[in-house]
Amino acid sequence: MTRIAFIGAGNMGLPMLRNLLAAGHEVRAYDVSPDALAEAVRAGAGEAASLADAVTAAEIVITMLPEGRHVRAVYLGDGGNDGIVGHAPREALLADCSTIDVASAQAVAAAASEAGYEMIDAPVSGGVTGASAGTLTFMVGGSAAGFQRAEPVLAAMGRNVAHVGGSGHGQAAKICNNMMAGIAIIGASEVCCLGEALGLDPKKLFDVVSTSSGQTWMMDHMHPVPGIVESSAANRGYAPGFKAALMAKDLGLAQKAAADTGTSTPLGSAAASMYRMLCHNGAGELDCSAVYRLLHGDL
Ligand code: NAD
Repeated sequence: MTRIAFIGAGNMGLPMLRNLLAAGHEVRAYDVSPDALAEAVRAGAGEAASLADAVTAAEIVITMLPEGRHVRAVYLGDGGNDGIVGHAPREALLADCSTIDVASAQAVAAAASEAGYEMIDAPVSGGVTGASAGTLTFMVGGSAAGFQRAEPVLAAMGRNVAHVGGSGHGQAAKICNNMMAGIAIIGASEVCCLGEALGLDPKKLFDVVSTSSGQTWMMDHMHPVPGIVESSAANRGYAPGFKAALMAKDLGLAQKAAADTGTSTPLGSAAASMYRMLCHNGAGELDCSAVYRLLHGDL
């Protein structure tokens, strides 16, 4: 049993926290949203009155927050409010599971290290379904010692816990994967539009592509045309799945990283722009495979 402080009990955090409780850990929760905190308490977590109250006796602090600015504020303090750094015991391990930009992840970890803490970045893949089922993939960046301490606790929430490198490398792996996935589903959508314009039956086209060099996991599992692949969001009116708004966010992070490192990513840039377009067309809450409908002229 580990004493865990869990900060951010939203769509992902709440089911993750449930799995920690089911594994026998003691969890103290804090969220700025009273409704989210109440849900966490109903699930069996202890109720913290403040961030400081949540972390004061923690052995591990886990955060699951929306963006880099929230992670900076929660760890380092914001406008007079104290952060985790300073309130958590120095021997506590700090683990941020949010998806944020690499530069913020590295800056927060460096500040935590300066103050005497061990910190890892551990973003996840698998969405709310994976969080509920305890089948997330964790991509961990940080020291080998930090990874070893975190692994048994992260394993209560996921099926794969991978140590991918030093500080920020978890975030780097996450945005590289999602950039690839985001480009792939646009490619699949373009091919479906072209096939249709050429008079090809979409099922016959899929059967050929999925066993040829154009095969991609995204088309195999998230085919953008309804009625081809059982698991597709397209069969459920494009209910997510993986929201277009989250894909736009992750590809935006990839573009920031590309700019910061001077990397040429012309397809990543075009894909990021297409998901922003999808969001501006009111489809941000739909599955990212709805990009097919944008290309098809239905949005
Ligand atoms: P969410 O908005 O549902 O949850 C975030 C929670 O953080 C909210 O309850 C919010 O009130 C809380 N919060 C914000 N600021 C806070 C603060 N200062 N102190 C305490 N609590 C605070 O978001 P989510 O869908 O759970 O996503 C969380 C992270 O996981 C994001 O970085 C997202 O990109 C990533 N992610 C999400 C998915 C997904 O499918 N939803 C999949 C993979 C990764």
